[in-house]
Amino acid sequence: MQYLTNFHSHCYFCDGRASMEQFVRYAVAKGLRAYGVSSHAPVSFNTRWAMHYDDFPEYLQEFYRLKKKYSAEMELYVGLELDYLPEEKDAAFRLYENEPLDYRIGAIHYIDNLPTGQKWNIDGDPQLFYMVCELLYDGDIRRLVKRYFEQLCRMISSARFDIVAHLDKVAYNAAQFRDFDSTASWYTDLITETLKLVKEKDLIVEINTKSVASRGVTFPNRQFYPLMRKMKIPVMVNSDCHYPDGVITGMKHTYEALGEAGFRTVRILKGGKFVDMPIN
Ligand SMILES: [Zn+2]
Ligand SMILES: [Zn+2]
Repeated sequence: MQYLTNFHSHCYFCDGRASMEQFVRYAVAKGLRAYGVSSHAPVSFNTRWAMHYDDFPEYLQEFYRLKKKYSAEMELYVGLELDYLPEEKDAAFRLYENEPLDYRIGAIHYIDNLPTGQKWNIDGDPQLFYMVCELLYDGDIRRLVKRYFEQLCRMISSARFDIVAHLDKVAYNAAQFRDFDSTASWYTDLITETLKLVKEKDLIVEINTKSVASRGVTFPNRQFYPLMRKMKIPVMVNSDCHYPDGVITGMKHTYEALGEAGFRTVRILKGGKFVDMPIN
């Protein structure tokens, strides 16, 4: 891939481990042609991983400073990774609807609260995931996974965003269950139905490369590339970096795999618009 891009990234404004500028400088050094900042949008409960409501103006301000400073090196874009929460539905999406953002990423990290009312992140500690499956879904991993896709499809139906984040992220922790087989028809049907909705709503599916180095997997999993190709779903390769050296992690491998699955282009932002860029 000649025209390298990444539109899913974090920084000090949320749970990223460096400043926005450090990430941008790293992206410049790695030869990226376009880079998007997409901090976790503020949420209505206390957390360390999301931006604070008060910081949003400064987030935009810092972005515009960098956009100007690095305009000769690369295109910079500003977005947010927005959470679709079970009890709030698309409230966050509506809140930032009229802000001057270049794009929006929609994500599911929460599907149900614990009996105590506490939040539980499906992407968190594997042991907690296992315990919550016992507690909320009678130990039935299918029920948990179905619940995730139910929420995901609700978010997609709202269509108040552009890019679907890590579509099968629940598989990361579900994989520890012996009963979870990603090739079983109940599961592949869920993926197919979700992709149909993505297509209907004209959204982009990101291929999230964050876990390629650590787990050898992308979200969605490589097994679904041919299906997405067949359904003509536009895809975008994003690293979801939280550390500057993760800016292009797993991308080379992923572009190759997409090519093998028959993809000729990926969707990116160029000149302020979504366009299809040839992979080679
Ligand atoms: Zn996420
Ligand atoms: Zn992210």
